[in-house]
Amino acid sequence: MGGNLRYPEAVEELVGALKQLPGIGRRGAERMALAMLGWEPDKLRCLGELIGHLPDTVGVCPECGALSDAGELCAVCRAPGRDPSLLCVVETTAQLFAIEACGNFRGRYHVLGGRLSPLDGENGAALNFDRLLERVGAGGVREVILALSSDVEGRATAIYVAGLLKTLPVRVTRPALGLPAGANLSYADGATIAAALSGRTAVEE
Ligand SMILES: [Zn+2]
Repeated sequence: MGGNLRYPEAVEELVGALKQLPGIGRRGAERMALAMLGWEPDKLRCLGELIGHLPDTVGVCPECGALSDAGELCAVCRAPGRDPSLLCVVETTAQLFAIEACGNFRGRYHVLGGRLSPLDGENGAALNFDRLLERVGAGGVREVILALSSDVEGRATAIYVAGLLKTLPVRVTRPALGLPAGANLSYADGATIAAALSGRTAVEE
């Protein structure tokens, strides 16, 4: 539709909501909304319920901060046989999944839920630093691997976390090769991630 024509108000509202998703512009949002209008009413209601229930059904793992079924430990924290002395710090659950997909990391994770970005006003208040300090402070963690993005925000976050851990008796390392930045990590090739994690260097303060 061009000019000043508008879809019915409810469709415009849906388009406006879909446009907020990453990588979705006005045209893409219109295509999605119009496709949904072609669905059977029951299928549409089902989608609406799935989305509407997310706040009640999905939470974060109380141990590591990864996405999990509400109120439950995540699959990694539940899994027996993971090495609790090796803690891999990532920004997002998507990064955790990318590292898990390589299949050769046997430690545990800590998900920060984002990264520091002072220019955007992200000063870390909402990030999962306190629980990280609790976990490391409780003992039993030998090495913390800062598998954060290789861009400016990722590096700033790594420096900050290394500073937080400085007084604790734990080795702090980072992957030898930089990991691809932020969201792209989940698409990174598993061999690259495996190589990056296998050669680690100590973070010097
Ligand atoms: Zn967990």
